[in-house]
Amino acid sequence: MKDTALRIADFKDSIFGVISRLAREHGAVNLGQGFPDFDGPEWLKDIAYRKMQEGHNQYAPFPGSISLRTEVSNYYKSLYALSYDPETQITITVGATEAIYVVINALVNPGDEVVVLEPFYDSYVASIKMAGGIPVPVTMHAPDFTVDKGELARAITPRTKLLILNNPHNPTGKVWSRQELLDVCELAIKNDLYLLSDEVYEFLLFDGAKHLPTATFEGMLERTITVSSAGKTFGLTGWKIGWICANERVTRACRLIHQYVTFSVSTPIQEAVAEGLKRLPSYLPGFVELYKSKRDFFHRELTGLGFDFKIPPGTYFMMVPIGSKTKLSDVDFALKLIQDNKVATVPPSAFYLKSRDGERYLRFCFAKKEETLRQAATNLKGL
Ligand code: PMP
Ligand code: GLN
Repeated sequence: MKDTALRIADFKDSIFGVISRLAREHGAVNLGQGFPDFDGPEWLKDIAYRKMQEGHNQYAPFPGSISLRTEVSNYYKSLYALSYDPETQITITVGATEAIYVVINALVNPGDEVVVLEPFYDSYVASIKMAGGIPVPVTMHAPDFTVDKGELARAITPRTKLLILNNPHNPTGKVWSRQELLDVCELAIKNDLYLLSDEVYEFLLFDGAKHLPTATFEGMLERTITVSSAGKTFGLTGWKIGWICANERVTRACRLIHQYVTFSVSTPIQEAVAEGLKRLPSYLPGFVELYKSKRDFFHRELTGLGFDFKIPPGTYFMMVPIGSKTKLSDVDFALKLIQDNKVATVPPSAFYLKSRDGERYLRFCFAKKEETLRQAATNLKGL
């Protein structure tokens, strides 16, 4: 038989799938793949069920159900003073993953360069390659995962089309400061780049940190494409509802692709998420408090075990240095922990193209029941 497509020749199984499979095989506590091991809100599941009973069961309009696009538009307006027209500037996708694929394929021509800040979410580079683009990594330097402005400037060439930023940041838990964002925006404007701003953890901020959407910076609204996801916000990652907010021209290009990739997204679940977004003001404080208590608890546990790292201000991940515990690389240490200690984590070298910094860390997901986190800590004792 003839070969499969060249564009995927160097693709491997995603690290999240690999780790979750190993965790199952070895009966390990899974702090690898980023998803809660507890359910999302009862009231929202009830609404989804009701939406099905009410007959929201046939194809939604391909850009997304108008009720959800309207509610997305409403929250950007009320929380961030950003105006997106639901008719022409908002598209609903199958999670942020489809959104990322669609945006990149809508913008990138074969041979175009895309700057990715590493460690990066793994689907960025895969989507760039599927579009025929060239990923250009710029390293966020440990321990604070800062980007050197000069280094970023030098990575941009006349062939650069797009820069991808993730804030709050997976896997490090970093929340970008205003000045750091200003520096990136300044380079995007100076070099006339599009900026894909992955803000799926926009509501997972702790200790008074405030979300600063890239699109709110001066001169950035037109060139920023913002992606987010209900999966994180409502702790229902399997619902797979995401969205793209962009200018009309980019939205049209995204929709041309989206209509042939998925056409449209689950109708009753979109209707439910629309209701969920209406209730953000009353829902968010409890949501943030719940994850903050998990973060604080697990940080205490890990520091008690001799891991030394700053508590992350955002997301549900911790990037934990392993140098004090082992000489092994992240991959080997992660395998050892799964086999010997029955704790699964993600080895972050999968999120790097250039630097070997990832080999000195493991990523822990703390979006888990307290008993799960406690069990993981118990299993790690004596390391
Ligand atoms: N971007 C980042 C930074 C993520 O961590 C994730 C997944 N957890 C996604 C995008 C994809 O989100 P979704 O599950 O909505 O496809
Ligand atoms: N975003 C989740 C993580 O970072 C996983 C999503 C996936 O498995 N594709 O772990």
